Amino acid sequence: MQKTLILGCGIGGIVTSNVLKKIMGQDMQVTVVDRKPDYHYPGAFPLLMIGQRSPESISRPLERLNRKNIEFICDEIMELDFENNRVLTTQHILPYDYLVIALGVEYRSESVPGFNEYVLNAYEFEDVIKINERIHSFDSGRIVFFISSLPFKCPPAPYEMVFMLDYFFRQRGNRSKVELVMVTPEVSPEPLAGPKVGQSVRKMLADRNIELITEAKILGVEKDALILDHGMVVKGEMFLGIAPHWTPNVIRSTGLVDSNGFVEVNPSTLETGIPNVYAIGDVTAIKLPVLEAYAPKAGIFAHYQGEVVARNIACIAQGLTPKYRYTGKGSCIMHTGFGRARYSTVHYFAQPKPFITLLRPSRISYLGKIAFEKYWLNFWF
Ligand SMILES: Cc1cc2nc3c(=O)[nH]c(=O)nc-3n(C[C@H](O)[C@H](O)[C@H](O)COP(=O)(O)OP(=O)(O)OC[C@H]3O[C@@H](n4cnc5c(N)ncnc54)[C@H](O)[C@@H]3O)c2cc1C
Repeated sequence: MQKTLILGCGIGGIVTSNVLKKIMGQDMQVTVVDRKPDYHYPGAFPLLMIGQRSPESISRPLERLNRKNIEFICDEIMELDFENNRVLTTQHILPYDYLVIALGVEYRSESVPGFNEYVLNAYEFEDVIKINERIHSFDSGRIVFFISSLPFKCPPAPYEMVFMLDYFFRQRGNRSKVELVMVTPEVSPEPLAGPKVGQSVRKMLADRNIELITEAKILGVEKDALILDHGMVVKGEMFLGIAPHWTPNVIRSTGLVDSNGFVEVNPSTLETGIPNVYAIGDVTAIKLPVLEAYAPKAGIFAHYQGEVVARNIACIAQGLTPKYRYTGKGSCIMHTGFGRARYSTVHYFAQPKPFITLLRPSRISYLGKIAFEKYWLNFWF
């Protein structure tokens, strides 16, 4: 029987394994490896942060994939041995015919002095739970939310989180005593989405009395201050940050990566330079055809890329020509609080520039976001 090995059981790995198993059934052994036993749905972290979700309600044991005859192995991946078509984990030697790398990004908080001492990482499940505890006893003062560096995944998510903080304190009745400051290295919010989106997000921040500092270079964090370049200091009582993103070391040592450590792939087929080895999701170095910047990294793209790779592997395994192509299209719904959300679509391979649409916050988009969360946590497990 042919074997497909999938490294990483986040959004990309879950979709690839499900789709491939569904098409191939008993004719393909599908194995997924992840160091974590549980999956936590990141799209609901903003709701977890303000207490509208419990940690359990947005988590699923990855062992459940075994019920679909997808083999899940919980272990640390140590080495990719392309010469011998096998991957080494701490406890296993795993041979493969097809390999899919879906290892995402890791957080390098230690590269920002003071981060580990004074900051909670708003992108880390365990820290989001702690933020929830802290904001419940935060009566007055300044909360500084910052993005450490570029690139970071899901460009709307930091703004979504700060809007949810605003909503939380308004509901609690102490927003007038809580100042919110957003600090970003971007020239404007979500710059790849173009000036209209940037202006629109700026207006939403201003309307909610959230201060915005752009083009910030973060040098470090002290107990009561975020230190930027040019001697700028942002004082605060609570610091929430997005730690620098970094690809897993096991990938950096492979020779598949660009100078920043992301895996180079064919943007349509997600093939790497090695036959039958694919990479999908946040770990890839897909660039916008026109701007040479990294294409935005988000779960919806990892999802679509996983589908393309799974279907093409199935074609090859069945002796057919692989015909599926990734198109760079996707959509996103961002919570804005007050039972509303904002829907946007993106086509980032579009010429002469990426094509983005952004709707006003609405109740229907909110209901769509909630329905999508339910679908994700039930359909794929
Ligand atoms: C707060 C927040 C909100 C978001 N909201 C959205 C949204 O609304 N819409 C959207 O599209 N995207 C959203 N995203 C982004 C989305 O979560 C990511 O882009 C997506 O998870 C990427 O999928 P992936 O499969 O590439 O990587 P991941 O889902 O990160 O999975 C990678 C997996 O690899 C494992 N791994 C890594 N190295 C090793 C190793 N050496 N050994 C074993 N296992 C390893 C990790 O444990 C991890 O489970 C959000 C992200 C955050 C943080």
